[in-house]
Amino acid sequence: MLDDDCIFCKIIKGDIPSYTVYEDDVVKAFLDISQGTPGHTLVIPKTHVPDIFAYDETLAEQVFARIPKIARAVRASNPAITGMNIVNNNGTVAYQSVFHSHFHLVPRYTDDDDFKMIFKDNSDNYDDAQYQKLQAAIKANMEA
Ligand code: 5GP
Ligand code: ZN
Repeated sequence: MLDDDCIFCKIIKGDIPSYTVYEDDVVKAFLDISQGTPGHTLVIPKTHVPDIFAYDETLAEQVFARIPKIARAVRASNPAITGMNIVNNNGTVAYQSVFHSHFHLVPRYTDDDDFKMIFKDNSDNYDDAQYQKLQAAIKANMEA
């Protein structure tokens, strides 16, 4: 269930202190040490799963079900919060640095605060055949 070498498992066990804002039998939510924006909070399952690909449906239901109420509490904690990005990085290339799955709740204040996400629009480079090829490849790999 927990991994002795994992920093977030150590936080779950209390071996490393954290500023916990919520916990129950399934998740722990605590302030991210980096505080990308004020109130930046991490939600982690209380079992060692490395990334989103390792979730089964039950764990996903349990963890995802808890995120909205934690997000609402973070938002309500400061009237200056006007939005929130919820980010889940999977793999080094996707900026994951701790390999115990976690969801970043990043409160947003202005369009010029300390958080940025860039989605390039590549739609000009895609025709119908290319979209269909991508669609088919993903559908062919969908679990029942
Ligand atoms: P990732 O880059 O894997 O998506 O996010 C890992 C996050 O964990 C980073 O934002 C980093 O600031 C945070 N973090 C790493 N070590 C600790 C720690 O010991 N305590 C807390 N509270 N956050 C940590
Ligand atoms: Zn862990």
